[in-house]
Amino acid sequence: MASYDVIIIGGGPGGYVSAIRCAQLGLKTACVEGRETLGGTCLNIGCIPSKALLHASHMLHESQTNFVKMGLKGKSPSVDWPQMLSYKDDVVAQNTKGIEFLFKKNKIDRMKGWGSIPEPGKVQVADEVHEAGSIVIATGSESTSLPGVEIDEKIVVTSTGALALPKVPKKMVVIGAGVIGLELGSVYARLGSEVTVVEFLDAVTPGMDGEIAKTLQRTLKKQGLKFIMGAAVQSVETTKTKAKISYKLRKDDSEHQLDADVVLVATGRKPFTDGLGLAALGVETTPRGQIRTDTHWATNIPGLYAIGDAIEGPMLAHKAEDEGMAVAEVLAGKAGHVNYGVIPAVIYTSPEVASVGKTEEQLKDEGRAYKVGKFPFMGNARAKAMFAGEGFVKILANKETDRILGAHIIGPSAGELIHEICVGMEFGAAAQDIALTCHAHPTLSEAVREAALACGDGAIHA
Ligand SMILES: Cc1cc2nc3c(=O)[nH]c(=O)nc-3n(C[C@H](O)[C@H](O)[C@H](O)COP(=O)(O)OP(=O)(O)OC[C@H]3O[C@@H](n4cnc5c(N)ncnc54)[C@H](O)[C@@H]3O)c2cc1C
Repeated sequence: MASYDVIIIGGGPGGYVSAIRCAQLGLKTACVEGRETLGGTCLNIGCIPSKALLHASHMLHESQTNFVKMGLKGKSPSVDWPQMLSYKDDVVAQNTKGIEFLFKKNKIDRMKGWGSIPEPGKVQVADEVHEAGSIVIATGSESTSLPGVEIDEKIVVTSTGALALPKVPKKMVVIGAGVIGLELGSVYARLGSEVTVVEFLDAVTPGMDGEIAKTLQRTLKKQGLKFIMGAAVQSVETTKTKAKISYKLRKDDSEHQLDADVVLVATGRKPFTDGLGLAALGVETTPRGQIRTDTHWATNIPGLYAIGDAIEGPMLAHKAEDEGMAVAEVLAGKAGHVNYGVIPAVIYTSPEVASVGKTEEQLKDEGRAYKVGKFPFMGNARAKAMFAGEGFVKILANKETDRILGAHIIGPSAGELIHEICVGMEFGAAAQDIALTCHAHPTLSEAVREAALACGDGAIHA
């Protein structure tokens, strides 16, 4: 039996980041991971492989739509799918090996196997039981499905299957117009699949700023994705090579059917805590199966903490990482803190979507007086040179004090641009603080400054 200050169960972005910070703060640390490789959902079957395929398919799209306009002639590239998959696998391998290296560098013991907690202060991996001053659960999440829809990861797939299809399907149906469905739907649409997205609600990406969601749906439609909104999927039947999707339209209860070669079920994710022994320990959970914690990530069992997708809050890698660092600081006797009001969210479609803070809908619901500063990318010289003038930056600020309350961007590199606003919000910035900051020309960031100017006396180029 080995003894540690901290044992972390789960080696995803929550767990591995927490392990590194614990070790940096002088705690003797081990991390248990059941998968062969470290990095969790994010590096193995989530953020990283999906972004690799988004990047490759975006390059194809650029070559097909913009190269000739820029005077780049010649045979346009065609898709070598096995090579694209191996590029994606290579990107994943480089990143997961990088975490292994960081574990060695920080002298973190990696335990291979599935961990459980037989009693407080003990972690069992296979036949071995280890002692821990504190235990951090960072076991992440898994895909959900719908009643009447059985996943086989061949014809009816989750995101995991969709990242490794044997060939590009002719027809794909995506159930769910959330982030994962729209990102992977975009990948296959760009590669030539006929993609139909079936969504229960009337708008895509629930929770996003309404104006942004509408613009995103309109743009994706122009790119060839079809949308069936307000539709409740009833069942998916499969033969050896095809699927038949039955759905009812909510507005009139009428029944319809669709055919597909592949059905991607992207209806959300739920916490993964199987096999840990939480019920026997008496760990409190929410009705959605999330581990309940206090503001310092402590569960109701002394010495037992939880972070990341396994607890409440947005299921995002950077939220898990921030909690991982903060809980390490708490365990080392410091003041770990996460500002949940400033957690950006990004959709890596083209154009990208990024948001932070309050949406207009939330501000209206809260009855708060706010002003809107908007600037279209069509007014930004750099975006026009990139054929990326679609979209806008929208900053929401307090009507009296000018303090930034939220920002929503749809357009080129939105996922990078949002961080200027995040830093501003962390410092309690007013829109004028961004407006008075000199921004290099010609950059996409100037669009953020112009939106901030639009919160005051007006944008210059609109
Ligand atoms: C297709 C897809 C795309 C995504 N894209 C993005 C994105 O672009 N940006 C973003 O921020 N988020 C994205 N996400 C979400 C992101 O992957 C998760 O929010 C993030 O991985 C959560 O981190 P975590 O550490 O809490 O859990 P996970 O990454 O799920 O890691 C948990 C780890 O714990 C291990 N584990 C579980 N139980 C045990 C046990 N008993 N013993 C040992 N090990 C165990 C699992 O094997 C897993 O490796 C995406 C997700 C998917 C599916």
